[in-house]
Order: sequence, then C-alpha cells, then structure tokens
Amino acid sequence: MTHIGIRQGDTVGILGSGQLGRMLASAAARLGLRSHVYAPESGPAFDVATTHTRAEYDNDEALAKFAAEVHVITYEFENVPAHTAEFLVARRQVHPNPVALATSQDRLLEKQFLNSLGIPTAPFAQVDDGGSLARAVAQIGRPSILKTRRFGYDGKGQAMVREGADLSAVFRGIGAQPCILEGVVDFAREISVVGARGFDGSFAAWDVCENTHEHHILAVTRAPANIAPETAAQAVGMASRIAEALNYVGVIAVEMFHIVKKRPNGEVVESLAVNELAPRVHNSGHWTLDGSVTSQFEQHIRAICGWPLGSTRLHAPVEMRNLIGSDVDMWRELLNEPGVCLHLYGKREARPGRKMGHFTRLLPQE
Ligand code: AMP
Repeated sequence: MTHIGIRQGDTVGILGSGQLGRMLASAAARLGLRSHVYAPESGPAFDVATTHTRAEYDNDEALAKFAAEVHVITYEFENVPAHTAEFLVARRQVHPNPVALATSQDRLLEKQFLNSLGIPTAPFAQVDDGGSLARAVAQIGRPSILKTRRFGYDGKGQAMVREGADLSAVFRGIGAQPCILEGVVDFAREISVVGARGFDGSFAAWDVCENTHEHHILAVTRAPANIAPETAAQAVGMASRIAEALNYVGVIAVEMFHIVKKRPNGEVVESLAVNELAPRVHNSGHWTLDGSVTSQFEQHIRAICGWPLGSTRLHAPVEMRNLIGSDVDMWRELLNEPGVCLHLYGKREARPGRKMGHFTRLLPQE
C-alpha cells in the first residue's frame, strides 16, 4: 500500500472521544494537523479536537461525511464495530488495519495468532457451552480464569474457576457466551512493550515498562521495567514480530507476564507470556508524554501519516500514576509538587473506577 501523503493542515480522523483521543488530537495539533473526532458520546477528545461529529458507529451517512472530511483515520479503542471499519476502509486509509482490530477484539483469535508466531501465552481452551467448559477445566485444571472472548477490559468479563465451583453457574454468571478458559500464570510482574511500526516497516519501541494494577485497573507504570536486558530485548522482539505479522501501522501495546522460576539447582530462569494486545495507544505508554523524546501519541500520528518515527529515548527513569475516581481531588497538591507533570482529562464527574487524569515523575538516575 502506498501512503496518500499527509501534509501540514490535513485532518486526522479519530474514532472515540475518550482521553486517548484527546491526547492524540493534541499531538496532531502540535504537528500542524487538524483533528476530527467521531463518537456517539461527547467526551474529553471533543474539547480539544478541531471538529467533532456526534453519531452512532452504524450511521453510514455520518460515517461517509466524516470519511470525506478527513485524510487518514485511526481509533482510540479496539472495539470499533467490524461494519464501521469496513465502511471506512472502503473510503480512506485506516490505521491500524482491520485485521489488527479483529485479532485483538477476540481473545481466542488473539491467542491462536500469537501461538502461530511461536509466541507463548497462558495455556487456554475454547469454551462455547457448559460441556466444553467441563472439558476445558479437565485440560487446563483449577484454579483457572474464564474470560469472555469479546468486550473484556479492566478485569470485566472474567471469572475465576476455583476448586469445587459449580461450572454451569460460573458460565451463566459470565453471560453464557463464547469464552476461553485460561490457566493462571504465576508471574513475578506484569510488563508491557509499547512500540510503533512505521509505514516503511521500521519498528521503534520505548523501554519496556512495568505495570501495577489495583482492582484490575492500571494504577502505576514504571519505566524501565526491573527485568534483565536480555528479557527486555526478547519482549521487544515479540512485539516487533506481532506488528510485522499484522502488517501494522501505528502504536501497538503488548501486555506480558514476566515469569521467574528458580530451578532446584538454584538457577533462575526468566520467561515471558503475552497476555493481551492493544492495537492503539495505551495507558501504560502515558509516561512517554513527559519521559521520552517522542510521546506515544506523537509517534502514532507520525506513523499513520506515513512520516518518519521519532526517537523513543528515555529522559530518565519515570513513574506514571493514574488518577482514578476521587484520586483526582489531589490535583492541587500535585500542582504544588515540583517535578510532577499533571495531565487532567477534563471529566466533570469523578465516578469510582473512572480514569480522570494521570501524573508522571521523572526519578533520579540510579
Ligand atoms: P486482562 O483483562 O486479560 O488484561 O486481565 C486483567 C488482569 O487479570 C491482568 O492484568 C492480570 O493481572 C490478571 N490476569 C489475567 N489473565 C491472567 C492469567 N492467565 N494468569 C494470571 N493473572 C491473569
């Protein structure tokens, strides 16, 4: 595919009006581009985009008008309906491509795809009904985790299958829908690789980062992760192979488990298993706004415009913390703290579990 050559003053179309869309629109503006955000609900991205359209994702008339007014299209969330993606692809370049979207929308396809590349994941089995759940439990064992194939995020659409649990009750509890059953990984830490693949096939990743979750929601990201350099190189290699195989353009985030096992002879063995792909900018890459030469948002815009990728060099070790729900009440204290870079998303209502903003601190060099 050749790129249509985006120039200063052209417009980037963004599906989704959340904070990721907001930060993408801001990055586009910094690079001399306009932005047009399309979403069914108004949100933080509407406040900073040059233009916005409020319409449903199946409104073909509104989608056609949007496509005609923008020069390239991207999205801030992976659950873009297949129809919307196909409709837009017929009219404009859409990056990342719909194959990446379809792969990451379905946990079964995602894991099969990863294993086909020789990339390890947690052991898994397909579950379509009560009978296949019983067979999957016999294969994977307990405890294990039942996850819906689609629309799971931040721990939603997941149920533990413990010793003695009533399988049909667990399956009903999760909505009796297509699932996978996953073995529980005994990990030392969760890490992610955030990187970008350019139009020319180049791949640039930031330092591998380490993530801590609270109540299934990302709380803290630290970069670089506390892992051996060879393990970090292996993690980046996996992300690069995934992006290559998907013929990907844009920022991709690959969440992984870092597993550390001690052999009886005392030898320590480190390994990785991929948990999830996000075909978009990702919360665990927010630190790049303040901690790196090029942010993930700028890099994504560069990539989808067919422009050269920027440097992913780290300024210093960095820590990013999310402001979830009422955490945001400490915004004044944070503004008073020298060295804190605060990002607020402009959401009026601080509901529990809602991402209201984040802040980063550059840490002293060790
Ligand atoms: P997910 O929605 O798949 O990203 O899962 C949310 C969180 O649940 C992950 O960040 C992990 O902390 C935990 N988790 C998910 N799958 C597994 C697994 N197979 N083994 C252990 N922990 C898991």
